[in-house]
Amino acid sequence: RVRVRFAPSPTGGLHLGGVRTALFNYLFAKQNGGEFVLRIEDTDQNRYVEGAEQYIIDCLNWCGITPDESPVNPGQYAPYRQSERKSLYRQYAEQLVMQGHAYYAFDTAEELEKYRKDIPNFQYGQVYRDGLRNSLSLPQHEVDQLLADHTPHVIRIKIPADQSVGFTDMIRGRVTFETNTVDDKVLLKADGMPTYHLAVVVDDYLMKITHAFRGEEWLPSAPIHLLLWEYLGWKADMPQWAHLPLILKPDGHGKLSKRDGARLGFPVFALDWDGTQGFNGMGFLPEAFVNFLALLGWNDGSGQEIFTLEELVEKFSVERINKSGARFDFEKAKWYNAEWIKKATAESLQPKVKEILSGKGINVTDDARLLTIIDLIKDRCVLLPDFYQQSSYFFHIPAAYDLNAVTPKWTEEKTAFFKSFIEQLKATPTLIAADTETAFKALTEEKGFKIGDVMLPFRIMLVGGKFGPHVFDIAALLGKDETINRIEQALV
Ligand code: GLU
Repeated sequence: RVRVRFAPSPTGGLHLGGVRTALFNYLFAKQNGGEFVLRIEDTDQNRYVEGAEQYIIDCLNWCGITPDESPVNPGQYAPYRQSERKSLYRQYAEQLVMQGHAYYAFDTAEELEKYRKDIPNFQYGQVYRDGLRNSLSLPQHEVDQLLADHTPHVIRIKIPADQSVGFTDMIRGRVTFETNTVDDKVLLKADGMPTYHLAVVVDDYLMKITHAFRGEEWLPSAPIHLLLWEYLGWKADMPQWAHLPLILKPDGHGKLSKRDGARLGFPVFALDWDGTQGFNGMGFLPEAFVNFLALLGWNDGSGQEIFTLEELVEKFSVERINKSGARFDFEKAKWYNAEWIKKATAESLQPKVKEILSGKGINVTDDARLLTIIDLIKDRCVLLPDFYQQSSYFFHIPAAYDLNAVTPKWTEEKTAFFKSFIEQLKATPTLIAADTETAFKALTEEKGFKIGDVMLPFRIMLVGGKFGPHVFDIAALLGKDETINRIEQALV
């Protein structure tokens, strides 16, 4: 049975790359009828950020990729927070010490600092571990004494010399590492907490994880994990790894960072975080967000760009994930959103549009009318707040407009034209778009105008600017009285 996990550390909001990792795990699990597990890797108490776990859960829910097992919905492998699993890890670290694959290290923080200062390119490991204060180099009786005295110590993995370790990555194929480049990472800290390396291996094993998609930045950790799987005797159960390509800056130069977002004016967080705007706050639909994330490093080969989550589950394929970095293009992200707004029904958009409008002081009471408005303008909206710009004139008369700005020569004849038009409108019982258009055009001809001469001013009188849907549709929705009113206001 396929079981994947998304294992973020609660150190802040989830940015694009984090959510994409979650998404690919989810897609793979669902395609294979498996489970998607959320495990919170909070063993580094120094980097722990209050509220981050809740943010992660809210974010996955917003995206529609809710985990099957998580701290808030635990399954049979609970608990799902590593800090609550603390007592589990020591036994494995001790087992490794017994087997000679790990050792106790008593060096204090000051000593470590001194080594780093005195020894160029210091690495705690094969080259320098001898002579330092650890159980490999101190005499046994001294080690026993230090332990008996409860001297603070960590447990480090003993990386073997001159070995080549490797695994087959689902995306990259065979990847190998030379152990001589790897240092003796701490597995268990002085406070008894495991480090990421020990915890991730133990938990992937205990939680029966079969596959794990994670960011490329974790590739350098893979040799440590490989050795741990081997030394703990679990090699046959090691999950299959897929290291996802980096998400690059828009210009393709280097990894996308939070700073790029701030500098270039786009969010990097999915939800709003810490006063930083996220994609939700900016007015992205979750469907669009998930869609463009999936296409950051994957495609189905057909050129199709718009996918629902269900389609992604069906079409996702590890073979079609790129090895090279995926460039993030904010304009393209907005294009996805516009497409999703077009695709959405007015009913599904209505609650969000209502919220946006009420934020601007427009409290909609006529829901049926709002649905008509949404249908009329949604093709012109890229981000949700555009619904305000594109619809506010349906709720209040434009605050300002300048007819002269559009038609430099506003003439008496034009005023006369609109006065006649008002008379015609007054004579009709209700303003019907098609009929009004016919009458307007006939009047234009009768008075000797070109249609452009009067159509654009008419639009500006109703809308306040050179935008919006078909002008006679707008007039029909405003109704006869309000249309007349707006023309009259503009003429004074
Ligand atoms: N806790 C790690 C993170 O913050 C998990 C890396 C992994 O998936 O192994 O991303």
